[in-house]
Amino acid sequence: MSTKLSLIAAAIMLPLTMSVNASAINQTKGDFEDKFRQLGQALPTPNVYRNAAGEPGAQYWQQKVDYKIKATLDEENRRLTAHQSISYKNNSPDTLKYLWLQLDQNIFKSDSIAELTSTVKTKLQSGPDKGKAKISLNTLRRQQFLDDTEMGYQIAKVKDNSGNALKATVVGTLMRIDLKKPLKPGKTAKFSMDFAFNIAEEDAVGARAGYEHFEKDGNDIFLLAQWFPRLAAYTDYEAWTNKAFLGSGEFTLEFGNYDVELTVPADHIVSATGELENASSVLTKTQRSRLEKAETSKRPVFIVTEEEALENEKEGSSKTKTWKFNAEKVRDFAWASSRKFIWDAKGYQQGGDDQPLVMAMSFFPVDGGDLWKKYSTESIVHTMEVYSRFSFDYPYPVAQSVNGPVGGMEYPMITFNGPRTELQDDGTRTYTQAEKRFLIGVVIHEVGHIYFPMIVNSDERQWTWMDEGLNSFLDGIAGREWDPTIPWGVEAQDIVPYMKSERQVPIMTQSDSILNFGRNAYAKPAVALNILREVILGRELFDFAFKEYAQRWKYKRPTPSDFFRTMEEASGVDLDWFWRGWFYSTDHVDISIDRVYKLRLDTKNPDIDYGRLRETELNKPVSQFVERNKAEGRELWVDKNQDVSDFYDDNDRFTVTNKERNSYNKFLKGLKPWERKTFERAVKEDKNYYVLEFSNLGGLVMPILLQLTYTDGTVEDKYIPAEIWRRSPKKVQKLIVTDKNKELKDISVDASWLTADIDVENNYYPRRIIPSRIEAYKSKKRDGKVNRDIMQDIKTELKKDEDKKEKPLTEDKK
Ligand SMILES: [Zn+2]
Repeated sequence: MSTKLSLIAAAIMLPLTMSVNASAINQTKGDFEDKFRQLGQALPTPNVYRNAAGEPGAQYWQQKVDYKIKATLDEENRRLTAHQSISYKNNSPDTLKYLWLQLDQNIFKSDSIAELTSTVKTKLQSGPDKGKAKISLNTLRRQQFLDDTEMGYQIAKVKDNSGNALKATVVGTLMRIDLKKPLKPGKTAKFSMDFAFNIAEEDAVGARAGYEHFEKDGNDIFLLAQWFPRLAAYTDYEAWTNKAFLGSGEFTLEFGNYDVELTVPADHIVSATGELENASSVLTKTQRSRLEKAETSKRPVFIVTEEEALENEKEGSSKTKTWKFNAEKVRDFAWASSRKFIWDAKGYQQGGDDQPLVMAMSFFPVDGGDLWKKYSTESIVHTMEVYSRFSFDYPYPVAQSVNGPVGGMEYPMITFNGPRTELQDDGTRTYTQAEKRFLIGVVIHEVGHIYFPMIVNSDERQWTWMDEGLNSFLDGIAGREWDPTIPWGVEAQDIVPYMKSERQVPIMTQSDSILNFGRNAYAKPAVALNILREVILGRELFDFAFKEYAQRWKYKRPTPSDFFRTMEEASGVDLDWFWRGWFYSTDHVDISIDRVYKLRLDTKNPDIDYGRLRETELNKPVSQFVERNKAEGRELWVDKNQDVSDFYDDNDRFTVTNKERNSYNKFLKGLKPWERKTFERAVKEDKNYYVLEFSNLGGLVMPILLQLTYTDGTVEDKYIPAEIWRRSPKKVQKLIVTDKNKELKDISVDASWLTADIDVENNYYPRRIIPSRIEAYKSKKRDGKVNRDIMQDIKTELKKDEDKKEKPLTEDKK
């Protein structure tokens, strides 16, 4: 076939067929990267424990660990002493000679890896304070607390079931217990130990638990978590997960049942993982009847009112009470205890067979104020309503939010949340809009964690994104269903500043090595999943696949590949490029629309095409040189000497002769019937051929979300899947054909900013003027010691009272 459609661009001749296909063959060995190559080699080989579909395999197994703990809180010494007996069921196919336990309290010991490797970022100042550095009072407080308090576990009497002492070797934040005889597959090892530790002051050390002291009434709130030696996970993909606790990578644990007896001062209120077993001996009759009323109440009911809590915190008690809790199928146990607690509750009637009623409960000191009374328990209920839709019914009897010194932390059935109100001089309690948003946001987030990773038990020590990323994605959904005017941080544009930044590691980075924890492990995966749901898969496919993931791995231990495989397998969409770009690389999205050509088809008929060419020639701008000559009155030689004119002065180069007409007819005759039909139809329709030239500046391949605005005012959205970049990941051209009278006015890419494109200004063709604001500012006075007016300052009187007016010394002397 010899037909070559040549089209005329406004000023450029561009052979259409070549220009469109050029990108497809414009590959070199040097800079071509196949962004769609399958993830295969990056993922572990599927096996009988985890199959290729991302499901637990036919021989999936996990260990089971049951705990019986009796603990006593020594309020005065802020010390916990306890005895625990552990039953360890080996469901693995391996024989175990020893068991590893996590000793998280040892992270505070001066010889822990975390302490020994803690670093500071100190920069000597420039300017007037040249050579000086800064240290925060918080850093000094931490230093002083750790100097004054002996931290870490004291462990004694490690014994097996028959009372034989077991050898226990402490290795930093881990402890190895050597068994008397190897533990065979299917067998259970039972052992026990005594342990004790001094509780950290949370505000001093900054941990996930600890006590908070209230100067005004002398009482404490105790938050106890990572408080007992817990079995490290033994897994099919890594065996013992005995990576030291460095602080960032959280906990990978085994499921089991807990019987826990907590002995605390008699006037304390206790909130804990699990169901309270002995309400009749620790709660009053009134409290029990209020709890019952709360089950069906529309709004939270106070079990302990503010007045009762204030009364309670006035005097301590030398007596104790023992609270008994039972928790089934949990991977951890945490609790809180204080005489300061107000306690409210509301039943969440979720229906179903497993757990038709869940008690949502909040525990907070008077400092929680209306903020907590109004929103904490309601936020718990809202979280369960939304999360269950995306995963499974909430399976536990209680879901709790406890106020304390920890900003936000999650454990099974219980969460710690930090926001407070401020007591004002007029006796009222007020709070900022930020505190309100923080409370609702943190409760949703932490209660959400009870699903991920407390039930969908991902390995937090390795992969923070699997709990924080998935959970931030879901809390963004629950949050925006609560009130979308609160910024939830999961919209695509929220991640743009981070995606632009230089200090980045891929999402697939072990938890303790992440450079920007919040952005990398929370926001980026959350935004990525949001984009996957809203832009790439659509809600129906995404939600089906995500729910499949949650249900497959409920009470089990998924790894990243199980998530990637399930999402792909259940949605039926190849997402390897997406995981590779968003999770395995630090590329960002920056798609630019560089150029748009409007092309018209040549008719090949010289009587038409030559005329068009002549018109183009005539429309060319006249040379400035010629115009200026004219203005100066210079006459042209050809005008002055018209007697020597010839043929070419009357006929231009676009003059058509029969030679061209014959060649045109020969061309038409040489076409096969279908070719001639196609050609003649195209000439007759005379459509507009727009060639859109895109470049991928960020490296991350994404769909192109095109919006075409026509001169007739109509707007058309076009979705071009990411696969357009498969053979040419850096530059592509796309042909858009419109009817003769349907002309493009302008084009935008991702006009609603859904893909986290880091430079939206190159998303418009033609480019637009960027609107912003500019602020006038006043130059600052010089600071530094030498710039003080000491002559005047020396007269300053020493201030004794804030309210007293300052008087110069000289005046007093008079
Ligand atoms: Zn979290």
